[in-house]
Amino acid sequence: MSRKSGRVLVQCVYCGQMAVCSREHVIPKCFHPEDAPSPANSVIIPACSPCNSRKARDDSYVRDLFAPDLAASVSPQALSVLNGQVFRSIRTNRSDFGKMAASGSVSVPLNTPSGLFLGNFPAVPVDWKRVRRFFKWGSQRGHPYYPSQDK
Ligand SMILES: [Zn+2]
Repeated sequence: MSRKSGRVLVQCVYCGQMAVCSREHVIPKCFHPEDAPSPANSVIIPACSPCNSRKARDDSYVRDLFAPDLAASVSPQALSVLNGQVFRSIRTNRSDFGKMAASGSVSVPLNTPSGLFLGNFPAVPVDWKRVRRFFKWGSQRGHPYYPSQDK
């Protein structure tokens, strides 16, 4: 630990640089309903501002991609996130996924698992590179900070 202009420098978990760091939630806070407290077992790590900003953009993209999923509709928490943060982000044109949906949707055939053709439906191309990077943020770079569950 060192100091710069009276502020404490710590090592950013993501890039390894010594910097003034903020508290970064490995499981993004934006994945939780706004009116719910953060889980007591949230893993928080030090991250520099550039890394924190880059991760936040990926966090929002993945949140906006998965919250509308039909499987998420059975979860009151996912519906709260969808009706809160996700729709507000889309309405205010801050959602990268929402922008892609508005400008880059394509028509794709939809079939049942048995092969019955249901028609063509609009679909949004997914930026899988970004989704993979999101999981890399938490699983590879933040992994050493996960508390051990083996006791
Ligand atoms: Zn960093």
